[in-house]
Amino acid sequence: MTKKTAKDFDPTTTPTPTSTAKTGFKGNKQNLPSKPCKTCGREMTWRKSWAKNWDQVLYCSDRCRSHKNA
Ligand SMILES: [Zn+2]
Repeated sequence: MTKKTAKDFDPTTTPTPTSTAKTGFKGNKQNLPSKPCKTCGREMTWRKSWAKNWDQVLYCSDRCRSHKNA
């Protein structure tokens, strides 16, 4: 049995090829902000309808909003 010298692959130090820079993909959904719902704690991801009042959005749904005092 050959002993494998497992070199730790560290993506932070390994120079990454710049081939991914050519994707030109705009709508990166992973860049959307998100925060937990005040009531149920579920993470809610930014929605277009929340664009104007994202700071005031505390609950993921009307149900959670009405249950805030539960
Ligand atoms: Zn909720």
